[in-house]
Order: sequence, then structure tokens, then C-alpha cells
Amino acid sequence: MKNWRAGVGTALAVVLAGMLAFLFVKSEAIDFKKQSLVLSYLRELKDIDARWDSDLTRGRFERENTNVPQRDFADAVRRALNGLAAAAPSSPAVRESIDPLRKSFEEKIALIEKYRALSGELKSSLAGVDSSMKEVRAMMSGAVLARPGMKGRFASLENSLYELESGLVRYLLTPDDRQKEAMQSARAALRSAESQFEPPLRPAVARLSRHVEAVMQAKPRETELFTRVSFLTAGPRVDALNGAFFREIEATLEHKDVYRIYLASFAGALLVLLLYAGSQLVQSYRLLNEANAALTSANEGLEQRVQERTRELSQALKRLEESQAMLVQTEKMSSLGQMVAGVAHEINTPLAYVKNGLEAFGMQLPPIAALVDRTEQLLALLGSGNATQDALAAQFALVSEAVGQFRADDTAGELAKLVKDGQYGIGQISEIVGNLKDFARLDRSKVDKFKVTDGIESTLVIARHLLKSVEVKKNFGPVPPVTGSPSQINQVFLNLVTNAAQAFDGKAGRLTITTRAPDPAHVAIDFEDNGMGIPQDVLPRIFDPFFTTKDVGQGTGLGLSIAYKIVEGHGGRIDVVSRVGVGTKFTVTLPLTPPPAAPPLV
Ligand code: ADP
Repeated sequence: MKNWRAGVGTALAVVLAGMLAFLFVKSEAIDFKKQSLVLSYLRELKDIDARWDSDLTRGRFERENTNVPQRDFADAVRRALNGLAAAAPSSPAVRESIDPLRKSFEEKIALIEKYRALSGELKSSLAGVDSSMKEVRAMMSGAVLARPGMKGRFASLENSLYELESGLVRYLLTPDDRQKEAMQSARAALRSAESQFEPPLRPAVARLSRHVEAVMQAKPRETELFTRVSFLTAGPRVDALNGAFFREIEATLEHKDVYRIYLASFAGALLVLLLYAGSQLVQSYRLLNEANAALTSANEGLEQRVQERTRELSQALKRLEESQAMLVQTEKMSSLGQMVAGVAHEINTPLAYVKNGLEAFGMQLPPIAALVDRTEQLLALLGSGNATQDALAAQFALVSEAVGQFRADDTAGELAKLVKDGQYGIGQISEIVGNLKDFARLDRSKVDKFKVTDGIESTLVIARHLLKSVEVKKNFGPVPPVTGSPSQINQVFLNLVTNAAQAFDGKAGRLTITTRAPDPAHVAIDFEDNGMGIPQDVLPRIFDPFFTTKDVGQGTGLGLSIAYKIVEGHGGRIDVVSRVGVGTKFTVTLPLTPPPAAPPLV
């Protein structure tokens, strides 16, 4: 939904921006630089054309100007046309007219080229006429000077020359049929005059006649070419183009004005839209700000709550750790209690031995003391030297009675027996104390090489009082010693043996302890009892701390969890299989060497 709206929004923005760009381009100001360039080229063309025409006209009537037209406008026209073509893309009117215009100018250039040649020809013929006329006149005046009588002979020639001269001027100005006829009759008059004279006047008149003939030949062609040039369309075409171009600019301006109105309206509408969107944005921003402020305060509250909760939790954790430590301590104390109870029980019997023996020993002491007294008295009587025979005899009788009694009672034998019994009792006690030391391994370093069978033996001594009605079967296979904490491993054994003993619930049972080496790197110890067994639903929870099925005071629920931790810390594992009514087997598997960093027990 959000994506859909965003897509529509983007499309709308693109359309609006596109419209704006379109209107902007359409209403963009005309590039007057280009337009003025076009105009300047058009003006230049027009100018060249006009000057060209005026040069042509002027050259036509100026006899002296033999190189008509003087200026060569062809290059200037071509340059201007090329410039116009380069500036033309901005104007369709110019673009379309440029080719016809170029064509008509090229035509004009070609005609003028021809005209120039012809005009040159005409002018040189006219020059020929002039010089021949001067030559004939000079000859005539020369002849008259030599022979003044000749003047009358030259009168008709003089007249013909005058006729020819004035007729030629008229003919050149208006080469129509009338002037042409006049010229022809003047020429005929000249020819007839010519025949009357001798050389050199005669050939000079003939030359003049030929020059006049040449002028009359060239003039009509020149006039025709001039007319054709005058009627060429280049100039009017430039005018027409100029007009079209102006109209085009006007139309474009009108067009742009319309689009400018559209643009202004559109921009206005867009502005309104933007204002609306802006107001919406400001509103959203305000809402966002409020939400943000609310969020920040909520966040702060949350942070505070989290801090409080963290503090509470860490306090709770601390309390939990303390109580766990206490419970572990309790469990240790309970083990210690069991141990102390077992030791007390074990020591009790030999202690009774020693006690009874010492009592019996004490009872033997008075007759011995009496014997010693009587013997001392006898020795005193013998030492005094003045004792009577009777007194000595009586004292001898007392000593021998006491000795007889000593012998009869076999007091020495009895005492020796009592001492032996006492020594046996003491020996028993010291064995138990030795076992206790072995079990706790208080006198050794914490981690040591350790024979698990020794640990099991001392555990069994410590737990002997619990196993009174239990048949303990030792199935010790040869196993190498393991490296670990003996006191911790013994604690595991004691927990498992205690649990097994409690599994019989006071009834007779059998506990089989097996040691084996499942592989060269491990030692396994099975504690298998035929006690009550563990139900399947209870089985997954027995290693959980504080889980117990026993009555209050009987179990803490920490024995197995501590055992699990100890074994895990030694890099080993505890497995259990159990069937209710059949029995339970715990298997402790220990590596011969524990991992480098065994986690410490709490
Ligand atoms: P505790 O012995 O204090 O209850 P443990 O962690 O040692 O705590 O034992 C947890 C529970 O496992 C015992 O409560 C008992 O239900 C069960 N359990 C342990 N060993 C045996 C066993 N050999 N036979 C039957 N149940 C056992």
C-alpha cells in the first residue's frame, strides 16, 4: 500500500515537472542573437544585391568604366548565404528558402559574369569608334590644312561622322528599332562617303565603320543581358524572406505569449499545490515532532525502567548466586555430614575395642600393684638385716601367693592380649583416618594423577554405613590413571553411591561398580543398581539444579548437577539409563587428560 502510494506520488511529481519543463521551453525567450544574425545576413544580402544592381546600372552608362561591375560581389554573397544557412536552424522560413535563394544568386552571378564579358567587348568597340573617329577627323583637318580646297569634299563625310556620333549616343541610350535604323542609315552614308576618298582616309573610315558595326552587334545582346539581370529574382526573394522571417518572429512571439500565460497559470497552480503540500508537511512535521517527543520521553522512561529492572535483576542474580553458593555449600556440608557419620560409625567399633581393652587393662592393675607392694616389703625386710625368720617367711608366703595368683590368672598373657586388641583397634582407626584423607585428598595438590579404583574404594569405606543392606559388587577392569581433581571425582562417586543406596529405600539390593576403558583415551565407571529406577518423565530433569524427588532433609537436588559439572569440567560426561522397578545405571566417562581450562566449581 505504502509502495503503491509512493509510486503514484513519484509519477505525479514527474508529470508535473515534465509539464513545467515543457511550458518553460515553449515560453522561453527568443534567442534574439540568432535572430539578429539572420537579419543581419538578410540585410547584407539585400545590401549586396542593391549595390550590385546600382553598380551594374552605373557601369552601363559610364563609358570610361570599362570593368563593370567593378566590385566582385560573388564571394560576399556566398559568404552571407553560408552565414545565413548556419543561423537558419532557428527559423523554418529561412531554412526552406535558403536553397532557392542560393540558386537565384548563383544564376545572377553567372549572368553578371557573362554581362561583364559582353560589356567589356562593347566598351572596347566604343573605344575603337572613338579613336577611329578622332583618327578620321585628324586626317580630314590635316588634308584641309594642306589643301584648303578640300574642305568642300569633306563636308558630307563630316556630316556623316556627326550623324554617326550623335546617332550612336542616342542608340546607346535607347537601343530601339528607330535608333537602330538611324544608325544603319548613318553607317550607309559613311560607307558611300568612304568610297570617295583615297587611302589612308579610306581604310580609317572603313575601320570606323567596323567598330560601329561591332557596337551595334554587342549592344542588343548587352541590353538583353542587362534586362535579364534586372529581372532576376534574388533581390525580391531576399525581401520576401525578410518579410517571412519577421512574420515568423511575430508568430513565435505570439505563440510564446500564449505559453507564457499557460506557464504563469500552471506555476500559480503549482505554487498553490506546493503551499498545500508544504502546510501538510509542516503539519506532519509537527505531528512527527510530537510523536518523537513522546517516543523520546517513553524511551527515557523505558531506559529508566530497563535500568531499574537491570539493577533488580542483577541484585536477584547476586542473591541467586549467593543462595546457590549457599546451597552448594549445604550440599557439601551434607556430604561432609554423611562422611562424618560414616567415619564416626566406622571409628566407633574399634574405639569400643580400645575402650573395653583399656578398662580390662585397668582391672588388671590392682593385683599387679599388690604384687609389687608385697615384693617391695620383702626386699625391705631382707635389706634391713634384722628381720625375723617368721616375718620373712610370712612375707615370702604373701609374695608367692600374689605371684601364684598372677600366674593362675595369666595376667601377663591377658595384658598382652589386651594390648594387642588395643593396637588392632588403633590400627583400624588409623586405617579409617587414612581412607578419609585419601577420600578428601586434603594433603595433595588439587590436580593429580589418580587411580579411580582407589577413589571408589575409599568412597565405599566412607559410605559403608549407608550400604549395610547392600551387596556391593566390584567389577574392576584394568584402567589407566586419570588426571584430575581426586577430591572432586570422589565427590561424584560418593553422590552416585549415595543415590544408589537411597534408591533401595531401606530394602536389600545390589550395587555393581564396574571400571573399564572404552577406548585408549578414556576411562568409564558404571554404577548400576537394582533399585526403584527413574520414571521417563523425570529422567530429563535429574541433572537440573535443585531437582529432587526426595523428602525435605533427604535431598537437596544438587548432587547430580554438581556431579555433572565436575565431570564436564574434567572434559568427561555422565550418561544414565533407567527403568522403573528394574534399576538405574549411571556411567561416568573421563578422559585420561582433562582439557586445559576446566571450569571451576562454585
Ligand atoms: P538428591 O539426591 O538430593 O535428590 P540428586 O541431584 O542427587 O539430588 O538427584 C536428583 C534426583 O534423581 C533424585 O531426587 C532422584 O529422584 C533421582 N535419582 C538419582 N539417582 C537415582 C538412582 N540411582 N535411582 C533412582 N533415582 C535416582
